[in-house]
Amino acid sequence: MARKSAKGAAVPSAGKASTGSLVERRLARLGLHQPADFIVHLPIRYEDETRIVPIAAVVPGTTAQVEGEVIRSEVEFRSRRQLHALIQDENGDQLALRWLHFYPSQQKQLAVGNCVRVRGEVRSGFGGSEMVHPKVSVGGRPLASALTPVYSTTDGLSQASLRKAIDTALGRADLSDTLPDEVCSQYGLIPFRQAIRVLHHPPADVSCADLAEREHPAWRRIKFDELLAQQLSLAAARAARRSQQARPLANVGHALLQGLRSSLPFTLTAAQERVINEISADLSRSFPMHRLLQGDVGSGKTIVAAFAAAQAIASGSQAAIMAPTEILAEQHFSKLSAWLQPLGVNVAWLAGSLAGKARKASMAAAESGEAQLVVGTQALIQDKVVFSSLGLVILDEQHRFGVGQRLQLNRKGEENIGRQAYIPHQLNMSATPIPRTLAMTFFADLDVSAIDELPPGRSPVLTKLIADSRRPEVLASVAAEVRLGRQAYWVCPLVEESEALQLQTAVDTHARLAAALPDVRIGLIHGKLPANEKQAVMQRFRDGDIDVLVATTVIEVGVDVPNASLMIVEHAERFGLAQLHQLRGRVGRGTRESVCVLMYLAPLSMIARQRLRAMYETTDGFEIARRDLEQRGPGEFLGVRQSGQELLRFASLETDAQLVAQAREAASMLRDHYPKHAQAHLQRWMRGRQDFLRS
Ligand code: ADP
Ligand code: MG
Repeated sequence: MARKSAKGAAVPSAGKASTGSLVERRLARLGLHQPADFIVHLPIRYEDETRIVPIAAVVPGTTAQVEGEVIRSEVEFRSRRQLHALIQDENGDQLALRWLHFYPSQQKQLAVGNCVRVRGEVRSGFGGSEMVHPKVSVGGRPLASALTPVYSTTDGLSQASLRKAIDTALGRADLSDTLPDEVCSQYGLIPFRQAIRVLHHPPADVSCADLAEREHPAWRRIKFDELLAQQLSLAAARAARRSQQARPLANVGHALLQGLRSSLPFTLTAAQERVINEISADLSRSFPMHRLLQGDVGSGKTIVAAFAAAQAIASGSQAAIMAPTEILAEQHFSKLSAWLQPLGVNVAWLAGSLAGKARKASMAAAESGEAQLVVGTQALIQDKVVFSSLGLVILDEQHRFGVGQRLQLNRKGEENIGRQAYIPHQLNMSATPIPRTLAMTFFADLDVSAIDELPPGRSPVLTKLIADSRRPEVLASVAAEVRLGRQAYWVCPLVEESEALQLQTAVDTHARLAAALPDVRIGLIHGKLPANEKQAVMQRFRDGDIDVLVATTVIEVGVDVPNASLMIVEHAERFGLAQLHQLRGRVGRGTRESVCVLMYLAPLSMIARQRLRAMYETTDGFEIARRDLEQRGPGEFLGVRQSGQELLRFASLETDAQLVAQAREAASMLRDHYPKHAQAHLQRWMRGRQDFLRS
C-alpha cells in the first residue's frame, strides 16, 4: 500500500505496486515501483547549490548561484513582452536577469527590495553578464550541504517529488551487499550501501568532476555491479542453453567426411582443422551448439561449413545454410553441390526467385527429408517451408540477419518428441570480427571459433588511394591487367538515397567503361537484375568470359572468384570502413598478387580521410573492426542483435574495458563459490529484465 506525504510526493511501498496516485503512475512510467528500483535510479548529473558566488566572479558559459537584492524589475516590450530584473550583491556588483515568458508569481518574487537567490547559466549580454530563465528562490536561507542530484524524469514529475520518493526508498530498501568481502577487497570496491548513499547525496567534499566523469569510487562500484550482473545473466543464459536438448550429431568417422576430405583440391590450414574439430565436438553433444565462426575475408569459412553440414548429414539429420544475398547463396549452392553431390548427398536450392514447379520440388524435398542439405536465402524461413529433421542451421554473414530471422530458422528444426523438445545446433559465420570488449560482454554467451590464418600463398592485397582526377591512369592499368589474363571488379559509386539513382549510376558506369575500354569484355551486375540474369553474369565472370565486372554492393559479401585480382572502388569516400574491407576482400583470394584501388573525390571530410587512411594502413580485419568501433561506437556491431534493448545504463564499453574484464572474473568466482550472492546480485540488477536472459 502506498501512502502520500503532505506535499503529495509518493512514498514507495514495500509491497506490490498499488494502482496508485498520479505521482505513482508517473514513477511507474520510469520503471520505479519498489524501493529496490528507486535506489538504482541514479542521478544523471549534479547541481552545486552549496556555494554562493560573488557576482564579480561569475564566468560566462558556466552555471552559478548568486544572491542579491532586486534593484530593478520591469516588464519591457522589445520584440515581445519580457521581464527584466537587476540584482545587486553586497559588494555592489550587478547581474541582469531576463524572462521571455513568466507568471505573475515570478514578477511578485522579483519585486524591488526582495533578496533573492538565483541559479542559472551565465551569458554575456549587452550590458554585462546576464542569466536567462534562472531558478529563483528566497535569499538568505541556509545553503545545501551536499551537491543536488538531478534525475532523469518524465512529464509532470518534478525533481523535488522524485528526490523525495528516492529518499524515502533509501530509508526502506535493502542496501546490504550482494558481493562477498573477498570480491570487494580483491577489486578495491567500496560497499554497495556507501556507493548508493554517496551518489544520491554526495557529501560536500566530493569532487564534482569525479562524479561527472563517473570516476568516483562510488560510480566504479555501480559500474562494476552492472557489468557483473550482465556477466552473470549471460552465464545463466548459457547454462539454460546447456539444459536444452539437441540431437547429438556424432557420426564423425563416417565415409562422407572422409570422402569430403580426400576430394578437396587443397589442404586445409591448421586453423581450419582446429575449428572443424571444435564444431565437430559441439555437434556431438546433446545440447545445442551456439557457435560463432569468425574468419577474415578469404580465410576459407565455406569449407568449414561443408564439414559441419556433412557431419549432420552423416548422422542422419538435415542441414540448412542461409546466406543474406541470392548471389552468395547461389555461390554456396554450386560449391557445396560440387563438393557433396558426388559423395551422394542430395542438395536442394531455395531462394525468392525460385518459382513454380522448381520451388515446389525443393520444398517437398525439404519436407520429406530427401534433401539432406538445403541452401538458400531468407526464403528458407518462410512459413510454408518445413523440414523433416533439421539438426543443424548455418548462417553465413550472420551480422546481416536480425535476431528474429535467426530464431525463425532455428524453429524450423524444433521438434517435440514425447515431452522432450529438441533444438537444432546453430553455427553463425562472419568475417566481421567482434572487438574484444564486445566479445566479453554482449556476445559472451556465444562460443567463438576463429580462423586466424589465411590459406598459404596469399599475399596481402596492395591498397592504393588515387584521386578521381587520375582516372585515365586507372583505366590504363585495368586494360593492362586484362591483357595479362586477369579479371577486375569495378564497384560503382554508392547512392544511398535512391534505388533508382543507384541503378542509373550502375548503368552509366558500365556504359562509360565500355566506351573507354572497347577491347575489354565488360559485364554489369546490380540488385535489380532478375535472379537468373544475376546468376548468368556471375557464371560468365567465373568462367572468365567477362574481364571486368561493373557492380553495385551486391558483390560486397561472400563472392569468391579467385582469378579476380583487381578491385576498383569509385567514390570510396562514400563507403563505410567495414564495407570497404569486405569489398577489398573480394580480391586476393587466389595466389595472385592483388590490388585494390580506392578512388576518391577531394576534398575529403575528416571521417572519410580517417577511413581511407585505415584502409591504406592495414589489411587486418580485427584492426579495421577496432577502428570502426572507435569511429562509430558499438551500435553497429550490436544493432540487429540487441534489437533496441537498453544496453548498459552506467558502464561504457569504450572506457570501462578493464572493469569488464574484472567483472567477468568475478562472475565466475561468484558462480563457483558464492551462488547465493550471485542470485541476490541478479535479483537486484536484473529486476524486470527477464528479456535479457532470452538472447
Ligand atoms: P570466406 O572465409 O571469405 O568465406 P571462402 O570460403 O569463400 O572464404 O574461401 C576463399 C577461397 O579460398 C575459396 O576460393 C576457397 O576455395 C579457398 N580456400 C579455402 N580453404 C583453402 C585452403 N586451405 N587452401 C587453399 N585455398 C583455400
Ligand atoms: Mg564467405
